[in-house]
Amino acid sequence: MNDRVLLKVDHVTKMFGQDKRQFVALKDINLTIREGEFVALLGPSGCGKSTLLRMITGLISPSEGTVFYRGKPVQGVNPYATMVFQTFALYPWLTVLDNVALGLEARGDTSKQRFTQAEKLVDLVGLDGFESAYPRELSGGMRQKAGFARALAVEPELLCLDEPFSALDVLSAEALRGELMELWTGGKLPTKAILMVSHNIEEAISMADRIIVMGKEPGHIVTEFAVDMPHPRDRKDPRFETATDRIYAAIAGHTLPEADEVGAAPGSEGQTRMLPDASVSALAGLLEHLNGEVQKVDIYKLDSEVGLEMSELVQIIEMGEMIGFVVVKEGDIELTPLGQAFAEASILTRKELFAQRARRLPMIRWIMQMLHATPGKELPRKVFYTALLPEFIDELAERQLDIAINWGRYAELIDYDDRGEMLSLAVSNGKAVAAAG
Ligand code: ADP
Ligand code: MG
Repeated sequence: MNDRVLLKVDHVTKMFGQDKRQFVALKDINLTIREGEFVALLGPSGCGKSTLLRMITGLISPSEGTVFYRGKPVQGVNPYATMVFQTFALYPWLTVLDNVALGLEARGDTSKQRFTQAEKLVDLVGLDGFESAYPRELSGGMRQKAGFARALAVEPELLCLDEPFSALDVLSAEALRGELMELWTGGKLPTKAILMVSHNIEEAISMADRIIVMGKEPGHIVTEFAVDMPHPRDRKDPRFETATDRIYAAIAGHTLPEADEVGAAPGSEGQTRMLPDASVSALAGLLEHLNGEVQKVDIYKLDSEVGLEMSELVQIIEMGEMIGFVVVKEGDIELTPLGQAFAEASILTRKELFAQRARRLPMIRWIMQMLHATPGKELPRKVFYTALLPEFIDELAERQLDIAINWGRYAELIDYDDRGEMLSLAVSNGKAVAAAG
Protein backbone atom coordinates (compact mmCIF):
# COMPACT_ATOMS: atom_id res chain seq x y z
CA MET A 1 0.00 0.00 0.00
CA ASN A 2 1.08 3.52 -0.73
CA ASP A 3 2.37 5.08 2.43
CA ARG A 4 1.67 8.73 1.70
CA VAL A 5 -0.27 10.28 4.51
CA LEU A 6 -3.15 12.49 3.36
CA LEU A 7 -4.95 13.18 6.59
CA LYS A 8 -3.79 13.27 10.16
CA VAL A 9 -6.20 14.06 12.96
CA ASP A 10 -4.01 14.86 15.91
CA HIS A 11 -5.40 14.88 19.47
CA VAL A 12 -8.61 16.55 18.37
CA THR A 13 -11.30 17.44 20.89
CA LYS A 14 -14.55 19.21 20.04
CA MET A 15 -16.81 20.92 22.53
CA PHE A 16 -20.18 22.55 21.93
CA GLY A 17 -22.00 25.15 23.98
CA GLN A 18 -20.63 27.39 26.68
CA ASP A 19 -20.01 27.42 30.40
CA LYS A 20 -22.32 25.08 32.28
CA ARG A 21 -24.03 23.92 29.13
CA GLN A 22 -20.77 23.00 27.48
CA PHE A 23 -20.40 19.41 26.46
CA VAL A 24 -17.68 17.35 24.88
CA ALA A 25 -18.79 15.85 21.57
CA LEU A 26 -15.42 14.32 20.71
CA LYS A 27 -12.45 13.65 22.96
CA ASP A 28 -8.84 13.19 21.93
CA ILE A 29 -9.34 11.76 18.46
CA ASN A 30 -6.27 10.51 16.60
CA LEU A 31 -6.37 8.98 13.15
CA THR A 32 -4.40 8.86 9.94
CA ILE A 33 -5.53 8.20 6.39
CA ARG A 34 -3.13 7.31 3.60
CA GLU A 35 -3.47 7.34 -0.17
CA GLY A 36 -5.35 4.35 -1.48
CA GLU A 37 -7.29 3.65 1.70
CA PHE A 38 -11.02 3.23 2.19
CA VAL A 39 -11.66 3.83 5.88
CA ALA A 40 -15.00 3.50 7.68
CA LEU A 41 -15.95 5.29 10.89
CA LEU A 42 -18.45 3.09 12.67
CA GLY A 43 -20.34 4.03 15.78
CA PRO A 44 -23.75 4.61 17.37
CA SER A 45 -25.77 7.69 16.59
CA GLY A 46 -24.53 10.71 18.56
CA CYS A 47 -20.91 9.57 18.92
CA GLY A 48 -19.64 12.49 16.87
CA LYS A 49 -19.06 10.91 13.46
CA SER A 50 -20.59 13.79 11.50
CA THR A 51 -18.81 16.31 13.72
CA LEU A 52 -15.49 14.63 12.94
CA LEU A 53 -16.18 14.74 9.20
CA ARG A 54 -17.14 18.40 9.46
CA MET A 55 -13.78 19.14 11.07
CA ILE A 56 -11.92 17.13 8.45
CA THR A 57 -13.64 18.98 5.61
CA GLY A 58 -12.99 22.23 7.47
CA LEU A 59 -16.63 23.25 7.94
CA ILE A 60 -15.97 23.63 11.67
CA SER A 61 -12.73 23.79 13.61
CA PRO A 62 -11.52 21.68 16.55
CA SER A 63 -11.64 23.07 20.10
CA GLU A 64 -8.29 21.43 20.80
CA GLY A 65 -5.76 19.63 18.63
CA THR A 66 -5.17 19.91 14.90
CA VAL A 67 -6.39 18.41 11.65
CA PHE A 68 -3.46 18.13 9.23
CA TYR A 69 -3.92 17.63 5.51
CA ARG A 70 -0.73 16.67 3.68
CA GLY A 71 1.16 17.93 6.70
CA LYS A 72 -0.48 21.35 6.83
CA PRO A 73 -3.08 22.39 9.42
CA VAL A 74 -6.55 22.71 7.89
CA GLN A 75 -7.74 26.29 8.22
CA GLY A 76 -11.14 27.10 6.79
CA VAL A 77 -12.66 24.81 4.20
CA ASN A 78 -10.35 21.95 3.22
CA PRO A 79 -10.08 22.23 -0.59
CA TYR A 80 -8.91 18.61 -0.92
CA ALA A 81 -11.94 17.05 0.74
CA THR A 82 -15.64 16.98 -0.16
CA MET A 83 -18.60 15.56 1.58
CA VAL A 84 -21.55 13.49 0.40
CA PHE A 85 -24.47 13.61 2.80
CA GLN A 86 -27.22 11.18 3.68
CA THR A 87 -29.58 12.95 1.32
CA PHE A 88 -28.00 15.22 -1.14
CA ALA A 89 -29.50 18.67 -1.47
CA LEU A 90 -29.93 18.92 -5.22
CA TYR A 91 -31.49 22.10 -6.51
CA PRO A 92 -35.00 21.09 -7.57
CA TRP A 93 -35.19 23.75 -10.26
CA LEU A 94 -31.99 22.58 -11.98
CA THR A 95 -31.55 19.53 -14.20
CA VAL A 96 -29.19 16.73 -13.27
CA LEU A 97 -26.56 18.11 -15.62
CA ASP A 98 -26.86 21.63 -14.21
CA ASN A 99 -26.69 20.34 -10.66
CA VAL A 100 -23.46 18.50 -11.45
CA ALA A 101 -22.04 21.45 -13.36
CA LEU A 102 -22.65 23.50 -10.25
CA GLY A 103 -20.00 21.38 -8.53
CA LEU A 104 -17.53 22.50 -11.20
CA GLU A 105 -18.56 26.12 -10.86
CA ALA A 106 -17.89 25.86 -7.15
CA ARG A 107 -14.33 25.02 -8.12
CA GLY A 108 -14.18 28.18 -10.21
CA ASP A 109 -14.77 26.54 -13.58
CA THR A 110 -17.23 28.69 -15.53
CA SER A 111 -16.08 27.61 -19.01
CA LYS A 112 -18.53 26.12 -21.51
CA GLN A 113 -16.55 22.86 -21.39
CA ARG A 114 -17.71 22.35 -17.84
CA PHE A 115 -20.88 20.82 -19.25
CA THR A 116 -18.83 18.26 -21.18
CA GLN A 117 -17.02 17.43 -17.96
CA ALA A 118 -20.33 17.28 -16.07
CA GLU A 119 -21.67 14.89 -18.69
CA LYS A 120 -18.71 12.58 -18.16
CA LEU A 121 -19.45 12.51 -14.44
CA VAL A 122 -23.13 11.84 -15.05
CA ASP A 123 -22.08 8.87 -17.22
CA LEU A 124 -19.58 7.69 -14.63
CA VAL A 125 -22.23 7.31 -11.95
CA GLY A 126 -24.57 5.61 -14.41
CA LEU A 127 -27.10 8.38 -14.94
CA ASP A 128 -26.64 8.73 -18.70
CA GLY A 129 -29.96 9.48 -20.30
CA PHE A 130 -31.08 11.50 -17.29
CA GLU A 131 -28.99 14.61 -17.94
CA SER A 132 -32.04 16.79 -18.52
CA ALA A 133 -34.22 15.22 -15.84
CA TYR A 134 -35.18 17.20 -12.75
CA PRO A 135 -34.50 15.82 -9.25
CA ARG A 136 -38.21 15.14 -8.64
CA GLU A 137 -38.24 12.75 -11.60
CA LEU A 138 -35.50 10.62 -10.04
CA SER A 139 -35.69 7.82 -7.50
CA GLY A 140 -33.86 8.25 -4.19
CA GLY A 141 -30.97 6.13 -5.45
CA MET A 142 -30.63 8.16 -8.64
CA ARG A 143 -30.70 11.42 -6.74
CA GLN A 144 -27.93 10.15 -4.51
CA LYS A 145 -25.94 9.23 -7.64
CA ALA A 146 -26.36 12.78 -8.91
CA GLY A 147 -25.10 13.93 -5.51
CA PHE A 148 -22.02 11.72 -5.88
CA ALA A 149 -21.41 13.13 -9.36
CA ARG A 150 -21.56 16.66 -8.01
CA ALA A 151 -19.16 15.84 -5.18
CA LEU A 152 -16.77 14.18 -7.64
CA ALA A 153 -16.83 17.25 -9.88
CA VAL A 154 -14.32 19.00 -7.64
CA GLU A 155 -12.02 15.95 -7.94
CA PRO A 156 -11.56 15.67 -4.20
CA GLU A 157 -8.49 13.78 -3.03
CA LEU A 158 -10.41 12.72 0.01
CA LEU A 159 -14.05 11.81 -0.49
CA CYS A 160 -15.98 11.99 2.78
CA LEU A 161 -19.27 10.11 2.89
CA ASP A 162 -21.69 10.71 5.75
CA GLU A 163 -24.02 7.71 5.88
CA PRO A 164 -24.55 8.04 2.14
CA PHE A 165 -26.87 5.03 1.82
CA SER A 166 -28.94 5.25 4.96
CA ALA A 167 -31.84 7.23 3.48
CA LEU A 168 -32.28 4.72 0.65
CA ASP A 169 -34.38 1.58 0.59
CA VAL A 170 -32.47 -1.67 1.12
CA LEU A 171 -32.20 -2.64 -2.53
CA SER A 172 -31.18 0.76 -3.87
CA ALA A 173 -28.62 1.06 -1.09
CA GLU A 174 -27.13 -2.31 -1.92
CA ALA A 175 -26.98 -1.48 -5.63
CA LEU A 176 -25.34 1.88 -5.04
CA ARG A 177 -22.76 0.38 -2.67
CA GLY A 178 -21.80 -2.15 -5.33
CA GLU A 179 -21.49 0.53 -8.01
CA LEU A 180 -19.37 2.76 -5.81
CA MET A 181 -17.05 -0.14 -4.98
CA GLU A 182 -16.69 -0.99 -8.65
CA LEU A 183 -15.65 2.56 -9.45
CA TRP A 184 -13.30 2.72 -6.49
CA THR A 185 -11.58 -0.64 -6.92
CA GLY A 186 -11.45 -0.08 -10.69
CA GLY A 187 -9.54 3.17 -10.14
CA LYS A 188 -12.22 5.16 -11.94
CA LEU A 189 -12.76 7.78 -9.24
CA PRO A 190 -10.74 11.01 -9.26
CA THR A 191 -10.16 10.37 -5.59
CA LYS A 192 -7.17 9.15 -3.56
CA ALA A 193 -8.95 7.97 -0.42
CA ILE A 194 -12.44 7.53 0.96
CA LEU A 195 -13.62 8.10 4.50
CA MET A 196 -17.13 6.83 5.10
CA VAL A 197 -19.28 7.26 8.18
CA SER A 198 -21.62 4.39 8.88
CA HIS A 199 -23.63 2.90 11.68
CA ASN A 200 -24.09 -0.33 9.80
CA ILE A 201 -21.49 -2.98 10.59
CA GLU A 202 -22.10 -5.06 7.49
CA GLU A 203 -21.87 -2.04 5.25
CA ALA A 204 -18.53 -1.08 6.78
CA ILE A 205 -17.11 -4.59 6.49
CA SER A 206 -18.30 -5.02 2.92
CA MET A 207 -16.60 -1.81 1.78
CA ALA A 208 -13.71 -0.61 3.93
CA ASP A 209 -10.06 -1.65 4.29
CA ARG A 210 -9.99 -0.37 7.82
CA ILE A 211 -12.79 0.17 10.32
CA ILE A 212 -12.45 2.64 13.15
CA VAL A 213 -14.96 1.86 15.89
CA MET A 214 -16.25 4.80 17.92
CA GLY A 215 -18.12 5.01 21.18
CA LYS A 216 -20.09 7.86 22.74
CA GLU A 217 -20.15 10.07 25.82
CA PRO A 218 -17.88 11.57 24.99
CA GLY A 219 -17.25 10.51 21.39
CA HIS A 220 -13.99 8.59 21.25
CA ILE A 221 -12.19 5.90 19.28
CA VAL A 222 -12.67 2.49 20.83
CA THR A 223 -10.53 0.41 18.53
CA GLU A 224 -9.63 -0.25 14.94
CA PHE A 225 -9.85 -3.29 12.66
CA ALA A 226 -8.23 -4.08 9.34
CA VAL A 227 -10.47 -5.89 6.85
CA ASP A 228 -8.23 -7.97 4.67
CA MET A 229 -10.59 -9.55 2.14
CA PRO A 230 -10.74 -9.21 -1.65
CA HIS A 231 -13.65 -7.39 -3.33
CA PRO A 232 -16.46 -8.07 -3.93
CA ARG A 233 -16.92 -9.39 -0.42
CA ASP A 234 -19.33 -12.17 0.35
CA ARG A 235 -21.39 -11.77 3.52
CA LYS A 236 -21.54 -15.55 3.88
CA ASP A 237 -17.74 -15.84 3.91
CA PRO A 238 -16.69 -17.13 7.37
CA ARG A 239 -14.13 -14.29 7.55
CA PHE A 240 -16.97 -11.81 7.10
CA GLU A 241 -18.86 -13.39 9.97
CA THR A 242 -15.82 -13.42 12.22
CA ALA A 243 -15.24 -9.74 11.52
CA THR A 244 -18.89 -8.97 12.36
CA ASP A 245 -18.63 -10.79 15.67
CA ARG A 246 -15.39 -9.09 16.65
CA ILE A 247 -16.71 -5.65 15.88
CA TYR A 248 -19.93 -6.29 17.76
CA ALA A 249 -17.98 -7.34 20.78
CA ALA A 250 -15.99 -4.10 20.54
CA ILE A 251 -19.02 -1.85 20.44
CA ALA A 252 -19.52 -1.28 24.11
CA GLY A 253 -22.83 0.40 23.62
CA HIS A 254 -24.80 1.26 26.72
CA THR A 255 -28.15 2.83 27.37
CA LEU A 256 -28.12 6.55 28.17
CA PRO A 257 -29.92 8.32 31.01
CA GLU A 258 -33.56 8.79 30.03
CA ALA A 259 -33.35 12.49 29.13
CA ASP A 260 -30.53 11.81 26.65
CA GLU A 261 -32.10 8.64 25.37
CA VAL A 262 -35.33 10.39 24.29
CA GLY A 263 -33.66 13.57 22.95
CA ALA A 264 -35.27 16.93 22.14
CA ALA A 265 -38.54 17.75 20.35
CA PRO A 266 -38.66 19.10 16.79
CA GLY A 267 -38.25 22.86 16.69
CA SER A 268 -36.84 23.10 20.21
CA GLU A 269 -33.25 23.61 21.21
CA GLY A 270 -30.98 20.62 20.77
CA GLN A 271 -30.97 17.96 18.16
CA THR A 272 -34.17 16.00 17.58
CA ARG A 273 -33.55 12.37 18.32
CA MET A 274 -34.55 10.34 15.30
CA LEU A 275 -37.05 7.63 16.06
CA PRO A 276 -35.43 4.29 15.29
CA ASP A 277 -36.93 2.62 12.25
CA ALA A 278 -38.74 -0.21 13.99
CA SER A 279 -42.34 -1.22 14.56
CA VAL A 280 -44.11 -2.05 17.81
CA SER A 281 -44.69 -5.62 16.66
CA ALA A 282 -40.98 -6.11 15.99
CA LEU A 283 -40.19 -4.77 19.45
CA ALA A 284 -42.79 -7.05 21.01
CA GLY A 285 -41.18 -10.00 19.24
CA LEU A 286 -37.77 -9.12 20.61
CA LEU A 287 -39.07 -8.63 24.16
CA GLU A 288 -40.83 -11.99 24.06
CA HIS A 289 -37.65 -13.63 22.88
CA LEU A 290 -35.58 -11.99 25.63
CA ASN A 291 -38.14 -12.86 28.27
CA GLY A 292 -37.46 -16.53 27.59
CA GLU A 293 -33.73 -16.04 28.23
CA VAL A 294 -31.74 -16.06 31.41
CA GLN A 295 -30.87 -12.43 32.19
CA LYS A 296 -28.28 -10.99 29.82
CA VAL A 297 -27.87 -11.90 26.16
CA ASP A 298 -24.98 -11.14 23.79
CA ILE A 299 -26.31 -8.77 21.17
CA TYR A 300 -24.13 -10.15 18.44
CA LYS A 301 -25.66 -13.59 18.82
CA LEU A 302 -29.20 -12.24 18.73
CA ASP A 303 -29.55 -11.66 14.99
CA SER A 304 -29.25 -15.34 14.12
CA GLU A 305 -31.45 -16.29 17.08
CA VAL A 306 -34.34 -14.06 16.06
CA GLY A 307 -33.68 -14.35 12.32
CA LEU A 308 -33.22 -10.66 11.59
CA GLU A 309 -30.63 -8.63 9.77
CA MET A 310 -28.22 -6.98 12.19
CA SER A 311 -29.14 -3.53 10.88
CA GLU A 312 -32.86 -4.16 11.57
CA LEU A 313 -32.11 -5.58 14.97
CA VAL A 314 -30.06 -2.53 15.94
CA GLN A 315 -33.07 -0.30 15.22
CA ILE A 316 -35.40 -2.48 17.26
CA ILE A 317 -32.98 -2.47 20.18
CA GLU A 318 -32.68 1.30 19.97
CA MET A 319 -36.47 1.54 20.10
CA GLY A 320 -36.48 -0.70 23.17
CA GLU A 321 -33.91 1.53 24.87
CA MET A 322 -35.81 4.68 24.00
CA ILE A 323 -39.07 3.29 25.35
CA GLY A 324 -37.24 2.00 28.43
CA PHE A 325 -37.98 -1.69 27.92
CA VAL A 326 -34.37 -2.85 27.56
CA VAL A 327 -30.91 -1.74 28.66
CA VAL A 328 -27.73 -2.32 26.73
CA LYS A 329 -24.29 -2.47 28.25
CA GLU A 330 -21.03 -3.77 26.85
CA GLY A 331 -22.60 -5.81 24.11
CA ASP A 332 -25.23 -7.38 26.37
CA ILE A 333 -28.94 -6.67 26.33
CA GLU A 334 -31.27 -7.07 29.26
CA LEU A 335 -35.01 -6.55 29.84
CA THR A 336 -35.99 -3.85 32.33
CA PRO A 337 -38.76 -4.78 34.78
CA LEU A 338 -41.10 -2.73 32.58
CA GLY A 339 -39.95 -4.60 29.50
CA GLN A 340 -40.56 -7.87 31.25
CA ALA A 341 -44.02 -6.72 32.32
CA PHE A 342 -44.76 -5.86 28.69
CA ALA A 343 -43.58 -9.25 27.44
CA GLU A 344 -45.87 -11.02 29.89
CA ALA A 345 -48.90 -8.71 29.63
CA SER A 346 -52.22 -9.07 27.80
CA ILE A 347 -52.79 -7.06 24.64
CA LEU A 348 -54.62 -4.29 26.47
CA THR A 349 -52.09 -3.90 29.25
CA ARG A 350 -49.35 -3.90 26.64
CA LYS A 351 -50.97 -0.95 24.95
CA GLU A 352 -51.16 0.90 28.25
CA LEU A 353 -47.55 0.21 29.16
CA PHE A 354 -46.39 1.28 25.74
CA ALA A 355 -48.60 4.40 25.75
CA GLN A 356 -47.25 5.54 29.10
CA ARG A 357 -43.73 5.45 27.76
CA ALA A 358 -44.39 6.60 24.19
CA ARG A 359 -46.17 9.79 25.27
CA ARG A 360 -42.95 10.91 26.95
CA LEU A 361 -41.03 10.82 23.69
CA PRO A 362 -40.53 14.37 22.44
CA MET A 363 -41.51 13.53 18.87
CA ILE A 364 -44.85 11.95 19.94
CA ARG A 365 -45.47 14.63 22.56
CA TRP A 366 -44.85 17.31 20.00
CA ILE A 367 -47.36 15.79 17.58
CA MET A 368 -49.96 15.48 20.35
CA GLN A 369 -49.43 19.07 21.51
CA MET A 370 -49.86 20.37 17.98
CA LEU A 371 -53.11 18.40 17.65
CA HIS A 372 -54.32 19.55 21.05
CA ALA A 373 -53.79 23.17 20.11
CA THR A 374 -55.96 22.82 16.99
CA PRO A 375 -59.75 23.20 16.96
CA GLY A 376 -61.11 19.82 15.88
CA LYS A 377 -57.90 18.19 17.15
CA GLU A 378 -56.76 17.22 13.69
CA LEU A 379 -54.12 18.37 11.23
CA PRO A 380 -52.95 17.30 7.79
CA ARG A 381 -49.86 15.13 7.67
CA LYS A 382 -48.25 17.79 5.50
CA VAL A 383 -48.12 20.22 8.43
CA PHE A 384 -45.93 17.86 10.45
CA TYR A 385 -43.87 16.95 7.44
CA THR A 386 -43.11 20.59 6.73
CA ALA A 387 -42.23 21.22 10.36
CA LEU A 388 -39.76 18.32 10.30
CA LEU A 389 -38.06 19.37 7.09
CA PRO A 390 -35.44 21.69 8.57
CA GLU A 391 -34.06 18.74 10.52
CA PHE A 392 -34.85 15.71 8.40
CA ILE A 393 -34.75 15.87 4.65
CA ASP A 394 -37.35 14.46 2.24
CA GLU A 395 -37.77 10.72 2.67
CA LEU A 396 -36.33 10.84 6.14
CA ALA A 397 -39.02 13.25 7.37
CA GLU A 398 -41.69 11.06 5.77
CA ARG A 399 -40.22 7.98 7.37
CA GLN A 400 -40.02 9.65 10.78
CA LEU A 401 -43.72 10.52 10.50
CA ASP A 402 -44.61 6.97 9.47
CA ILE A 403 -42.79 5.62 12.50
CA ALA A 404 -44.38 8.14 14.89
CA ILE A 405 -47.82 7.28 13.46
CA ASN A 406 -47.17 3.55 13.82
CA TRP A 407 -46.17 3.95 17.48
CA GLY A 408 -48.89 6.53 18.22
CA ARG A 409 -51.62 4.37 16.71
CA TYR A 410 -50.59 1.31 18.64
CA ALA A 411 -50.53 3.34 21.84
CA GLU A 412 -53.96 4.76 20.92
CA LEU A 413 -52.60 8.26 21.34
CA ILE A 414 -52.80 9.31 17.70
CA ASP A 415 -55.23 8.36 14.94
CA TYR A 416 -54.37 8.49 11.30
CA ASP A 417 -56.63 8.59 8.29
CA ASP A 418 -54.58 7.14 5.44
CA ARG A 419 -56.87 8.36 2.67
CA GLY A 420 -57.20 11.95 3.79
CA GLU A 421 -53.67 11.95 5.24
CA MET A 422 -54.97 13.51 8.46
CA LEU A 423 -53.59 13.03 11.94
CA SER A 424 -55.89 13.42 14.92
CA LEU A 425 -55.87 12.82 18.63
CA ALA A 426 -57.18 9.34 19.36
CA VAL A 427 -60.65 9.34 20.95
CA SER A 428 -59.53 6.99 23.70
CA ASN A 429 -56.50 9.20 24.23
CA GLY A 430 -55.77 9.64 27.90
CA LYS A 431 -58.19 6.98 29.09
CA ALA A 432 -55.82 4.08 28.78
CA VAL A 433 -53.12 6.03 30.51
CA ALA A 434 -55.41 7.28 33.26
CA ALA A 435 -56.61 3.74 33.87
CA ALA A 436 -53.03 2.56 34.16
CA GLY A 437 -52.41 5.22 36.80
P1 ADP B 1 -23.23 11.26 14.83
O1 ADP B 1 -22.98 11.77 13.46
O2 ADP B 1 -22.23 10.25 15.28
O3 ADP B 1 -24.62 10.75 15.03
P2 ADP B 1 -22.94 14.04 15.58
O4 ADP B 1 -21.55 14.35 15.16
O5 ADP B 1 -24.02 14.50 14.69
O6 ADP B 1 -23.06 12.47 15.86
O7 ADP B 1 -23.20 14.65 17.03
C1 ADP B 1 -22.42 14.35 18.16
C2 ADP B 1 -22.96 15.09 19.34
O8 ADP B 1 -22.70 16.48 19.19
C3 ADP B 1 -24.46 14.96 19.49
O9 ADP B 1 -24.75 14.89 20.86
C4 ADP B 1 -25.00 16.22 18.87
O10 ADP B 1 -26.23 16.58 19.45
C5 ADP B 1 -23.91 17.22 19.21
N1 ADP B 1 -23.80 18.31 18.23
C6 ADP B 1 -23.48 18.18 16.93
N2 ADP B 1 -23.42 19.38 16.32
C7 ADP B 1 -23.72 20.30 17.27
C8 ADP B 1 -23.81 21.73 17.29
N3 ADP B 1 -23.58 22.45 16.20
N4 ADP B 1 -24.13 22.31 18.47
C9 ADP B 1 -24.34 21.61 19.57
N5 ADP B 1 -24.26 20.27 19.62
C10 ADP B 1 -23.95 19.61 18.50
MG1 MG C 1 -24.23 11.82 11.81
